[in-house]
Amino acid sequence: MAALACANTTEEKQATTEKEAVPGSFPIVIATWDVKKATAKAWEVMKNGGSSLDAVEQGCMVEEANADGQSVGIGGLPDRDGNVTLDACIMNPAGDYGAVVYLQNILHPISVARKVMEETPHVLLAGKGAEQFALENGFEKVNLLTENSKKAWEEWKITSQYKPIINIENHDTIGMLAIDQNGDISGGCTTSGLAYKMAGRVGDSPIIGSGLFVDNEVGAATATGLGEEVLKTVGSFLIVELMRQGKSPQEACEEAVNRIVKKNGDRIKDFQVGYIAVNKQGETGAYGIHDGFVYTVYQNEENKKHVPEYYLKS
Ligand code: ASP
Repeated sequence: MAALACANTTEEKQATTEKEAVPGSFPIVIATWDVKKATAKAWEVMKNGGSSLDAVEQGCMVEEANADGQSVGIGGLPDRDGNVTLDACIMNPAGDYGAVVYLQNILHPISVARKVMEETPHVLLAGKGAEQFALENGFEKVNLLTENSKKAWEEWKITSQYKPIINIENHDTIGMLAIDQNGDISGGCTTSGLAYKMAGRVGDSPIIGSGLFVDNEVGAATATGLGEEVLKTVGSFLIVELMRQGKSPQEACEEAVNRIVKKNGDRIKDFQVGYIAVNKQGETGAYGIHDGFVYTVYQNEENKKHVPEYYLKS
């Protein structure tokens, strides 16, 4: 008996040590999709002593400037009228929030969102007003519609079939969460939204609690996929609140997906939603409705793509 008890104790000790080895090692960056260049940028910022807020801004900027990515920043697929309209938001460890929606002609909506947060008495600017604010603050006017995206839109116009079915390609909204060397959490989220959406449509990504939520006492979460469903369940806020109640980031992401599944029945076969989360200890989690969602974690000097579990195993 005594020997068994002793072995258990040793095993338990090992398990505890292993569990502690990953969490607690800051900085950490986690982002939706396979965006190693973006997470590397964010990591570098924090390794050099920068804050998690600088890290998520600069990390998101990498994808916004990537003209090959057709769902964020320049090169984003346009709405049905051929206009590229961008949505973004950012949150800092104090719980402050800034966002822009339906922003056109500006390369870095994440930075405009940060300026809204830091330099206005407001939290969200839309459309022309957001563009005017950006121009007044030194952002340049750029054409965001690349030749490739224009061609894709012209081909789409032939049938004009509007099916906001998400995923299965491997690059989408970038949601990024970071914890810096002080243990402080920030998050950012940036997107061109659904391809060929109705003019004026805004999704979950720039909306606090839906596309992104950060609570520096608990953790943070962010989303990708069909924004309408994330909005209806206030997914990122839900995940953070579930973590506050003691769920792990993984369990919380699974519960948020399950809420969407319960509401939609069979319809879930037609759309994707994916969540990622991190808690204050640096534990991470992710879950999607379908296969195809991936995410990137930079932690313990390793920048790696991960494939999460998902709900619908056909
Ligand atoms: N969540 C984004 C939106 O609904 C789209 C996406 O992630 O693909 O605008």
